[in-house]
Amino acid sequence: MSTRRVRHIVNGQPTTDGAGVDLVRVIGQPALADLDPFLLLDSFRSDNPDDYIAGFPPHPHRGFETVTYMLNGRMRHRDNAGNEGVIEPGGIQWMTAGRGIVHSEMPEQEDGLLEGFQLWINLPASHKMTTPAYQEFDATHIPLESRPGTRIRVITGSTSLGTVGPVCQPLTEPLYLDVELEAQTRFEESLPGGHNAFLFVICGELSLDDDNDRPVRLGRDQLAVLGSGDRVEVTGAVARTRFLLIAGKPLGEPIARMGPFVMNTQAELQQAFSDYQSGKF
Ligand code: FE
Repeated sequence: MSTRRVRHIVNGQPTTDGAGVDLVRVIGQPALADLDPFLLLDSFRSDNPDDYIAGFPPHPHRGFETVTYMLNGRMRHRDNAGNEGVIEPGGIQWMTAGRGIVHSEMPEQEDGLLEGFQLWINLPASHKMTTPAYQEFDATHIPLESRPGTRIRVITGSTSLGTVGPVCQPLTEPLYLDVELEAQTRFEESLPGGHNAFLFVICGELSLDDDNDRPVRLGRDQLAVLGSGDRVEVTGAVARTRFLLIAGKPLGEPIARMGPFVMNTQAELQQAFSDYQSGKF
């Protein structure tokens, strides 16, 4: 077993998207354009409605998956195929956009804390035009694994102790864990050797080692890209630390992306624009 070290650290970049939602973009920005198969990671957290109330009015997606995980607050989702629902605290919506959907994502609240993440995961060329599909689970359907000083919510993939998340995606075999650690608690977990993997700190501070065995501290809104290996080992450095551990099988395909479309070639991007403009989504 070899432990994955920190290859590099990325600071989330404050930005605005949708109709004016303040968020922190972590993947999909100059410091980390993508981490195959991950195309984007946004973190949003605010108790000021001015930061989020405008939401994300109707917009298209084609060629990948969007994964919304709410920690606090509620988000209403509605698409052009008639699907509608509210993602509640602790709930996950795993949307395979495939050949295309048009949807809105709007806060289902006028005040209070809204906190969560959106992750985009690429689809291989063979599945970019697949039929759109949803995997949705509320907090009660996401297994919670307890270890001493440790709580792990397993959204997809499985832990070394055998806890299995409810979301299934064999194309990229993702692992998506939400981990909480008490102070000075060490967390160890195995990771598929060929997967790209990262840690993203929600609150608190993690300590782990870099490529040269030097200790590294990772704080709120920082992401660590992990190097090669088949296990990860981190320690919660402060009273309460919470982080995401996410890994996925790289696709190794060319990426052509423009806004809400992610395809393999420029010609496919042009097709996506023209299909959307002519109402074929
Ligand atoms: Fe969207």
